[in-house]
Amino acid sequence: MATFLQVLVATPAHSRLSGPLTYQSEVQLPPGTLVRVPLGSRETLGLVWPGEAAPVAGAMQIKPVCEALSEIAPLDAHWLELMAFAASYYQRSAGEFALGSLPPSLRDVSRQQLQRKLAKRDKASNTVDAPRTVALAAPALTAEQAQVLQQLSRGTGTFLLHGNTGSGKTEVYLRRAAEVMAQDPQAQVMMLVPEINLTPQLEERVRKRFAALGEHAIVSMHSGMTPAQRLNSWLSAHTGQARLVLGTRLAVLASVPHLKLIVVDEEHDPSYKQQEGARYSARDLAVYRGRLQSAQVLLGSATPSLESWHHSRSPTDANDAPRYVRLSMPSRIGQGSLPQLRRVDMGKQPRRTLVSAPLLAAMRERLGRGEQVLVLLNRRGYAPVLHCTSCGWKSECPHCSAFRVFHKSDRSLRCHHCSLTQPVPRACPACGNQDIGALGHGTEKIEEHLAELLQDTPRADGSPVRIARIDADSTRAKGELVRQLAQVHDGDVDVLVGTQMVAKGHDFRRVTLVAALNPDGALFSADFRAPERLFALLSQAAGRAGRDAQLSTSHGCEMWVQTFHPAHPLFECLKQHDVAGFAEQQLTERRQAGLPPFSFQALLRAEARTQEAAQAFLNAARDTGQHGLASQGQAVTVYPAVPMGLQRVANVERAQMLIESTSRRALQSFLNHWQEDLHALRDRHKSVSRWAIDVDPLVI
Ligand code: ADP
Ligand code: ZN
Ligand code: ZN
Repeated sequence: MATFLQVLVATPAHSRLSGPLTYQSEVQLPPGTLVRVPLGSRETLGLVWPGEAAPVAGAMQIKPVCEALSEIAPLDAHWLELMAFAASYYQRSAGEFALGSLPPSLRDVSRQQLQRKLAKRDKASNTVDAPRTVALAAPALTAEQAQVLQQLSRGTGTFLLHGNTGSGKTEVYLRRAAEVMAQDPQAQVMMLVPEINLTPQLEERVRKRFAALGEHAIVSMHSGMTPAQRLNSWLSAHTGQARLVLGTRLAVLASVPHLKLIVVDEEHDPSYKQQEGARYSARDLAVYRGRLQSAQVLLGSATPSLESWHHSRSPTDANDAPRYVRLSMPSRIGQGSLPQLRRVDMGKQPRRTLVSAPLLAAMRERLGRGEQVLVLLNRRGYAPVLHCTSCGWKSECPHCSAFRVFHKSDRSLRCHHCSLTQPVPRACPACGNQDIGALGHGTEKIEEHLAELLQDTPRADGSPVRIARIDADSTRAKGELVRQLAQVHDGDVDVLVGTQMVAKGHDFRRVTLVAALNPDGALFSADFRAPERLFALLSQAAGRAGRDAQLSTSHGCEMWVQTFHPAHPLFECLKQHDVAGFAEQQLTERRQAGLPPFSFQALLRAEARTQEAAQAFLNAARDTGQHGLASQGQAVTVYPAVPMGLQRVANVERAQMLIESTSRRALQSFLNHWQEDLHALRDRHKSVSRWAIDVDPLVI
C-alpha cells in the first residue's frame, strides 16, 4: 500500500504554496530524504519533511514521488530543525530555506553521476587520522592564547573572543579545531569568514595546518565556486568526510552531521547578513545551531558587534549568567605595537585640502624608509558628481534617486545602483556650456592626486614611488583582487589607495601608516549603526599597520584620521584602543533610545512603480497589523511607511516601515500572524511588484 509523504519543494518567494506538499510513495521514506517529485509539468528536487501527511480523500489525485536519491543519506533531524527555525524566524517558507541551502546542481545531477562521485570519494577516503600531529606544526602558545584555550576546553556554549588584530585569534581557532578533532575522530568543525576572496591567506593557512588529515578533509563553501565544486564540498560535509568546512555565510546552512565547533571570525562583519531573498544572519544562526547540535560556538573579533558585547560577560564577572562567555586577548603577538592615532583637524587646514600637509610629510618619511602606506576612502570613482557651473545641471541618474559617478579612467558616468553607464558629455546636456566640473572626490582622484604630490619623493633605492588602487572598479575582472593583493604583499606597491575592501583581514607586513581621509560622514549619520561600523572599520584598518614587529618597534606605526571633529568621543576611544569604553558608551545611548540590542526590529519593504502605491500597501498592512495588535494586546509598535533612503533604483520606487518591540517573542508572534494578511493584501495591491520582511535588519 502506498504511503503519503510531506515533501518540501523550492517555492518562489511569495507563492502561498509555502508549506510542504503531499505525495505518495510505494516505500516508506524517512524525513530528510531527497527525492524528485513532479510539480506542474516539470520534475523538481524535494525533501521529505517530518510530519504525517493526512491520507486525503481522492488519493488518486496525489502524485507519486518519481525517485528517491537514496545514494545520499537523509539529512538529519538537527538540520531539518535548523531549517524550520530559520524559515519561521526570518519569515520565509521552509522550502525556500531548505532547498535553497542545498547545492544547486543537486537538482539536475543524475543518480548514476552521484553514485560515481560517491564511489570516487570512498576510495580516496582519509587514510591519515592524525590530528594530534597537527599541533606540531603550530607555534608555541602565548600565555593569553593558552588561557583562552583552557577556558574553551573546559566550557560549552557560546564564547566571544575579543582579541586585538594580530593577537593570535586565528591561531586559537586552529588549535581549538585541532583539539576538537583529536578528541573525536568523527568531529567536524565549521569556520565562517566574512568574505573568503578577501582572505586567501586564511584558507592557505588552514590547509597547511591540517594537511595531515588528507586533502579531502578540508572543504570550502562560498558563492564563488562552480556548481560542481559546491556539490563536492557539500557531499564531503554531509558524508562526514570533510572534517573542517571553511566558508562564507551560506556555509552555516550546510549539512554537517558531526558538527562540534563553529568559529565565526570577524563576527561583527555586516556581510554575515544576507541582504536579499531569505535575509538571515549567519552569525545568529551559528549560535542557534550550536545550541541545537551541542557544538561549541566561538565568535571572534577585534571589535565585537554591540549585540555580542551586550550578551557576553567575562568569566570572572559573576553578576548575572551571561549568554556568552567573553574571553580577551589584549596583546599583539611578538611585541608588535598597536598604532598611534593622529588626528588632523581639517577645520584648520586650507579649504578643499584632500591630503593635509602633516599627513603628507608623515607619508614621505615612511616611504623614504621603504615602508608601505595604506590610504582609505569610502568612495570609488573619480568624483561622485559632475555639475555645470553655468546652469547647475548635475549628473543625476535618470532611473535612480542618485547621482552618476564620474570615472576618469574610461571617461564614463556610471550609476552605482542601476549600472547605467554613458560617456561623459562634452558639454552640459542642459545648456551647452562646456565648463563641466567635478564635485567631491573618490579613490581614482586620490590616486591621481597622490601621484602628483609624491612624484619627487623617491623610495629608499631612488626609484619612484609606486601607487596602486584597489576597489570594486579595479577588481572587477576575476582573479584581479588576488593578483593585486599579492602585489602589495610582495612589496611591489608603496602606497595603496582603497575602499574598505582593503581594510579587512589582510596581513600586509610592511604597512606602518594607515590614513582615513574623510570618515566624518558616519559620525552624524541617520543610521544608528554608522558609528559602530566606523569604529570597527578604523580599528580594522589600524590593525593593518604594524604587523611586522621589527618595523613597528623601530619607528612605531600610525593611524591617521583627517576630521572636522577631532574631539569626537569615537576618536578618543579609538586612540586608547578602548573597545570596551566605546561599546559601553554606544550601549548607553542605545539603551536610552530604545534601540537594538535593547529592542528588536523588523522592516517591511515594498517596491512599486510609484511611491504612493508602495506606501499604500505598507499603510494598509499597518492598519491590519494594528488591528491584530489591539486584540492580542502585544507590545509591538508599527511605524508609518516612509520612502527608503535610496528611494528610487532602476525606476522602481521603494518604501519601508519599521516594526519594533522590546520583546523578541512578541515581535515574532506579531510577524507570524501578519504574514497571512500581507499575502491577502498583496492580492489587492497589484501594483506592488515586490515586498519582503527583513528581521533584525542591519540598515534601516
Ligand atoms: P589575529 O587572527 O588575531 O589577527 P593571528 O592568529 O593571525 O592573529 O596571528 C598574528 C600573527 O602572529 C600571525 O602571523 C601568526 O602566525 C603569528 N602567531 C600567532 N600565534 C603565535 C604564537 N603563539 N607564537 C608566534 N607567532 C604567532
Ligand atoms: Zn548647464
Ligand atoms: Zn541608476
